[in-house]
Amino acid sequence: MNVYTDIKMDGWYRVVKCDNEALDMVAYIAVHNVQLGHSLGGCRFWEYDSDENALMDALRLSRAMTYKNCLADLPHGGGKSVISAVSGQKLTPDMLKAMGEFVNYVNKNGPLYEIAEDVGVSSTALDYVREVSPMVAAKVAGDPSPITAEGVFMGLTESWKYISGSDNFEDVRVAVQGVGAVGYCLVERLVDYGFQVTVCDVREENVQKAQQRLGVGSVSPEHIYNVPMDIFAPCALYGTVNPATIDIMSAKLIAGCANNQLSSPNVDDLLVNKGVVYAPDYVINAGGVIQVSGIEDNGYDHSIVEKHLEIIPRNLTKIYKISNSTGIATGKVANRLVEEKLGLE
Ligand code: NAD
Repeated sequence: MNVYTDIKMDGWYRVVKCDNEALDMVAYIAVHNVQLGHSLGGCRFWEYDSDENALMDALRLSRAMTYKNCLADLPHGGGKSVISAVSGQKLTPDMLKAMGEFVNYVNKNGPLYEIAEDVGVSSTALDYVREVSPMVAAKVAGDPSPITAEGVFMGLTESWKYISGSDNFEDVRVAVQGVGAVGYCLVERLVDYGFQVTVCDVREENVQKAQQRLGVGSVSPEHIYNVPMDIFAPCALYGTVNPATIDIMSAKLIAGCANNQLSSPNVDDLLVNKGVVYAPDYVINAGGVIQVSGIEDNGYDHSIVEKHLEIIPRNLTKIYKISNSTGIATGKVANRLVEEKLGLE
């Protein structure tokens, strides 16, 4: 049986903990902001060091979703859920159904949180949540990775046009860190448009697939920063754009799908000082959430999603122009646009 505890948290609309002793499950739903509509955000299944860290992650991620959804012009606030796995624990159908009940509890007095996929919780796993709760996104939309890649590609090409004044991508050099679900789809498009691509991945089979099918070059993961490049596309982990890597890289543009690319917000200023343009991660990687959002309330229509994606290059151009005229780093400009719209501190 689920036992719920409300947690008062300054700056968050609602935060609830769920304990289910029989399933050995601890989960949190954090609803950061609902000014634009009920919150939408994924559910993460992860082994945290402590329940406290799981809560912190839910808070951080739900706040980030407020920013992402707002700038993507979606009718949703920011929310996120996490299931704190104990060592070696596997996510079971019963846990997912218990999550469905948890979602229903939070939405008891009106819609507050719509659950979607995230690390450790696939869109197929969400079918179990769906058996119990109607507040589950993305049933018809499917895997968001290709559309995320498409949005990143649109943002990357627009950013490069902004920097170079040219829409000829022939031989523009891109170093792609990580050719997983999104990275691979991005490389497909880059190759099609004549970019010269070098990839790396810790999984050799992913590198081989990109090499064999797309004919791209590759280096080992530790050498990706040294590759001569015009654009760095982080598509793997968080924090790979940091003082040490900025020092080595020759990129003029950073544009990729990874979440939390900067090791800290101040890295943004280092990039300005070095004359490197940074496409803020949550702006350029919004394609996935655009696909799984309320756009599909009236049935999924890919052409509507494609049209909505155009907000990504539009936002980036706006951010670059403001950054250029004020000297404020692009990440901070993006944050301010959201904070002004929502009246956040
Ligand atoms: P994925 O796991 O399919 O791909 C990540 C790839 O990075 C894997 O192939 C992995 O082997 C590789 N990798 C891991 N560590 C590496 C390292 N040190 N150097 C090089 N490669 C490394 O994940 P994904 O769905 O493609 O997502 C990639 C990033 O984009 C993540 O940060 C994710 O949070 C973010 N993102 C994804 C989506 C989406 O729609 N899938 C949407 C928004 C943001």
